[in-house]
Amino acid sequence: MRLGQARGAATRQDRYSRLHRDREAAPKLRTMFPVVEQLRFELSFEGGGAATPVSQSHILHPPARAYFSFPCPYADCDGRFELAAAVHAAVEDPSHRIEGVLECAGSRVSDFRSKPLCRLRLHFALTAVCAPAH
Ligand SMILES: [Zn+2]
Repeated sequence: MRLGQARGAATRQDRYSRLHRDREAAPKLRTMFPVVEQLRFELSFEGGGAATPVSQSHILHPPARAYFSFPCPYADCDGRFELAAAVHAAVEDPSHRIEGVLECAGSRVSDFRSKPLCRLRLHFALTAVCAPAH
């Protein structure tokens, strides 16, 4: 059982200000991964309902916050995709590239009666561009 009422009562704006706070509290990318010059996220989506969200790409540079939590693109969903583990794997892997699939564990709060699980699938490809070893 999820937190139900309390969680559903949070507005989208609440969720975004929390996200913003979390991001501001994260260390900089260059602090966490000194060798990384660029992190490239390519995100595409599958399933989850009638309108599948469009693909996204994000690039993070060393001064950016090392914050790897992406909100589900559905406006009425409270889920997030957590890519921190994939980022660590991509930095450590010799190919510096990781692909994988995550399923959204959030629920679609606009359907008040049933709050169906979102289950949107994220296909991600993550590339870490690293400085050559000295
Ligand atoms: Zn979702």
